[in-house]
Amino acid sequence: MKVTDHLKVSDETLFSFEILPPLKGKSIQSIFDGIDPLMEFKPKFINVTYHREEYIYKERENGLLEKIAIRKRPGTVGICAAIMNKYQVDAVPHLICGGFGKEETENALIDLQFLGIDNVLALRGDSIKTESNFRAHKDGHEFAVDLIGQIGEMNSGNYLMDDIKLEPTNFCVGAAGYPEKHFEAMNLSTDLHYLKAKVDAGAEYIVTQMFFDNKKYFAFVDACRAAGIMVPIIPGLKPIKTMRHISFLPKFFHIDYPEALSKELLKCTTNDQVEQVGSEWGIAQSQELKAANVPCIHYYTMSNSKMVKSIAKEIF
Ligand code: FAD
Repeated sequence: MKVTDHLKVSDETLFSFEILPPLKGKSIQSIFDGIDPLMEFKPKFINVTYHREEYIYKERENGLLEKIAIRKRPGTVGICAAIMNKYQVDAVPHLICGGFGKEETENALIDLQFLGIDNVLALRGDSIKTESNFRAHKDGHEFAVDLIGQIGEMNSGNYLMDDIKLEPTNFCVGAAGYPEKHFEAMNLSTDLHYLKAKVDAGAEYIVTQMFFDNKKYFAFVDACRAAGIMVPIIPGLKPIKTMRHISFLPKFFHIDYPEALSKELLKCTTNDQVEQVGSEWGIAQSQELKAANVPCIHYYTMSNSKMVKSIAKEIF
């Protein structure tokens, strides 16, 4: 079932979450161990992130360095199929532009269709560690809007081989939105301009980057509506768990902590204290969002479902 249909048939705020594929070498059981504790909250869909290749340099016997591509977290498509098979819950694979040529994208979408997967979250992806700026694959897409356009073409039966008309796919496409603006955008209004282009190209709902200040989410929704973006906007929340998160989350995800939260975090000296603050903050954020009747609250587990469970049991 499509994410948008789940949203349409419910008057209440839905629960959903996102998982990461395990590191290469770990079994599917590690995924199930992360999902099992959250099933009591009846997620309507579970997102699975996509991780592109990284490059390492290995020294050869002759002293020369060899550039080797590695993928630490492969398996997004297979994990989605395993989730749907085991839990009968819709899985939403993330699909990115980075590292993909158009034909590989088409083949990935064909695999998804064969597996009965109805949803895709279409993203550009970030630059790899060895590049300072995002560089598109030579036969791929530069922006998420272009990927969304390709999926839209397939939904109309137009595949890359243009001499034959094939059976249309029927994917429901989601896109990313940034209440605190995407870090590369000149300002929020240009970012909204490009977000609207993603919706015009076929994105039927938006999932936001994590944020810790609900005011920013509500202002973002208002700004989207004013810009003519009328699709559901699902807030994404991440519970802060460790001392490391205090600086890592703002640095990596380009978000700010509101002052009331940073004051509490400044008092923490242990991971347990951070977890306590993060959990209380996540509950308060979720309560306010639910009271505002947001369509769904989407939690970023980042391979740790314990805190999401402690928050969800107060909310759902
Ligand atoms: P885009 O929408 O393409 O935007 C990228 C930047 O370009 C923005 O600054 C935008 O304003 C600008 N822009 C857009 N279109 C144009 C245009 N036509 N011309 C000029 N400028 C333009 N990353 C992963 O690698 N794997 C994941 O699984 C993953 N999941 C995510 C899930 C969510 C909910 C979110 C919010 C992010 C996720 N990301 C993931 C991170 C995401 O890939 C990065 O934030 C990336 O930098 C931008 O992706 P995007 O799809 O928003 O890009």
